[in-house]
Amino acid sequence: MGEICAEDGILQDPAVFSNLIVAWYHRQGRKDLPWQQNPTPYRVWISEIMLQQTQVATVIPYYERFMQRFPQLHDLATAKPDEVLHYWSGLGYYARARNLHRAAQQIIQTHAGQFPETLETLMALPGIGRSTAGAILSLALNHPQPILDGNVKRVLTRCFAIPGWPGASQVQKQLWSLTERLTPSLETKAYNQAMMDIGATLCLRTKPRCDRCPVQVVCQASQQGDATAYPEPKPRKKLPTRSVVMLLVYDAQNQVLLEARPEKGIWGGLWGLPEFSDRLAAEAAVNVWFGDHHRGLIWWEERRHTFSHFHLLITPLVVGLTNQIASIMDGSNRVWYNTNRPDKRGLAAPVSRLIEALKETIKEKGDEPHGGMRKTK
Ligand code: SF4
Repeated sequence: MGEICAEDGILQDPAVFSNLIVAWYHRQGRKDLPWQQNPTPYRVWISEIMLQQTQVATVIPYYERFMQRFPQLHDLATAKPDEVLHYWSGLGYYARARNLHRAAQQIIQTHAGQFPETLETLMALPGIGRSTAGAILSLALNHPQPILDGNVKRVLTRCFAIPGWPGASQVQKQLWSLTERLTPSLETKAYNQAMMDIGATLCLRTKPRCDRCPVQVVCQASQQGDATAYPEPKPRKKLPTRSVVMLLVYDAQNQVLLEARPEKGIWGGLWGLPEFSDRLAAEAAVNVWFGDHHRGLIWWEERRHTFSHFHLLITPLVVGLTNQIASIMDGSNRVWYNTNRPDKRGLAAPVSRLIEALKETIKEKGDEPHGGMRKTK
């Protein structure tokens, strides 16, 4: 935490921050949401689970129907799983509903139907993490428990200019430590509700309304001029790279040699160009397959195709034949593909692009697909 608070001074006196938040709640915070009326732990719990990954406006009608059918913990615990799912239907993430049902049964069985009122016992129930447990205790019972949901994380990373992706364990730890220090022991309910409201209505992901925010005076991201620089996105994994040589052989009728790809693996079941692991292997194959019946080897520049899990670096080797060699067709997994009258064959996208590039080059240069790097014979 030292690195966060060294310069900002807010944490020297966290009440400065929490007072701004609580005062805003009393002026402008939401007080008429259905789960804020008669906020028992059971009612707050249902709302908190529904609100995970779902906006307030979407949740309200679901919440009202759900609470009409299952007004008490006992009603939920004794319902059939299908009926609980029926009342959840349309909200998505159905594991949430299954966990609610299991947790309700667990409370009946192991806590004699008494809703737990400590962090540890709540967190032992299915589907309740630390932030949800904190929300239940603070919003229903005004216990001084901090919360750290997605909205709160956004407000805190911006106010304190916290670098890193909030999902990273080190950043999580920092944020928990921060929310613990900032959460007031009095008026915790107002503070937590306000933090969620500010995150949902002002500190928006793409267009934060800093001019209306109660903590703009102390918000480092806003003062830096680009609040959306925080929180940082999940780092993208560096993808590994593989290399391949693709043989682009064409005959006097501009037919290109294609090979059926294996059913499994990339481009499974499509048609591709003959592939080789390196240049030497490709040149050796040309020599064996076509001998001297070609007009030289032309290497095109490498191009990159990105899959979700790796980059493929493709080096095309272009070979124009002087006459077709019948023996190359032995094995039946090869065809001569007429580029002037293409059939409805499934081609891998980079192969289509290479064939198009070949056609263009032939059109421009006559029968010589130049534009490559090196020609050898
Ligand atoms: S000032 Fe802007 S960036 Fe900072 S917490 Fe408020 S809305 Fe978010």
